Amino acid sequence: MKVGFIGLGSMGAAIAPILVTAGHEVTVWNRSPEKADSLIARGAIRATTPAEASGGDVVFTMLSDDAAVEGVSQDILINLPAGSVHISLSTISVALADKLIAAHAAKGQHFVSAPVFGRPAAAAEGKLFIAAAGKPEAIAKAMPLLELIGQKIEVFGEKPSAANLVKLAGNFLIVSLTETLGEAMALVDTGGASKAQFLDFLTSTLFNTPIYKNYGAMIVNETFDPAGFGAALAAKDMRLAGEAAESLRVSMPLNDLLRARLERLIDGGEGHLDLTALSLLAKRDIGRDIK
Ligand code: NAP
Repeated sequence: MKVGFIGLGSMGAAIAPILVTAGHEVTVWNRSPEKADSLIARGAIRATTPAEASGGDVVFTMLSDDAAVEGVSQDILINLPAGSVHISLSTISVALADKLIAAHAAKGQHFVSAPVFGRPAAAAEGKLFIAAAGKPEAIAKAMPLLELIGQKIEVFGEKPSAANLVKLAGNFLIVSLTETLGEAMALVDTGGASKAQFLDFLTSTLFNTPIYKNYGAMIVNETFDPAGFGAALAAKDMRLAGEAAESLRVSMPLNDLLRARLERLIDGGEGHLDLTALSLLAKRDIGRDIK
């Protein structure tokens, strides 16, 4: 298949090589062009504009936020052939996804939302969990590619923005558990018990899931830099979850708290750290980690 790939940040740089290795003709564009060099060396084609990456059967976008996706969307709309599919992997707002559905439909193009769960390391192994939604014919075209990059693809119906809602709700759970893990560890540690043993005990019994194990280990070992899932991106996601909740008139008071905690980290110059650096705040609140 002729595939375009727009966005070679932490996630895109992990995903795009899988498509090249699978033998697809991949044309790549990234705002900072040097990030495409290693892919070009592996056989991908360099696009000098997002439009140039949008002339095939499918174009992926994997960009940081709404502004970045909106910034390339005109180029994509102008160049994507009728019947081809724009697969949006980024975590973007429900409102933008709805806008893109209409804009692509007006040009006879397809739009599939396929936001992903999993960090860059999982992405590099093709082990993402993908929430997808779109018209059946578009999903059918996207599926062989999504199956290369994900270990599970769940289709949430024909309206693409349903998948964006699922992604935002899922990230709300992830950020919540990060905050609760940080608070629980601060409690245990301050009282003189072992954080590592606490984590090992709970994740081998009641909380026996990869996410508690992985996030817990990052909190115990304080490995926040470089970020896998950056605090600034998490703050963006909680803002988007809050906006979706507001437009659907759903009450999410915990989301307000999480947003405030993340803003505090970012205001302190630590937005580049991993989301799990949230756990530093629980220690700072009791004067145990003054920066
Ligand atoms: P990242 O490392 O910060 O990369 C962001 C990408 O967006 C880069 O390619 C960047 O280009 C590009 N970009 C940013 N602003 C732009 C603009 N105005 N115009 C054009 N390009 C722009 O982010 P990431 O970790 O790859 O995340 C990408 C998306 O996946 C986000 O929506 C994130 O929420 C979501 N996600 C992330 C994770 C994770 O663990 N990291 C997991 C699941 C989902 P430059 O290279 O030029 O800066």
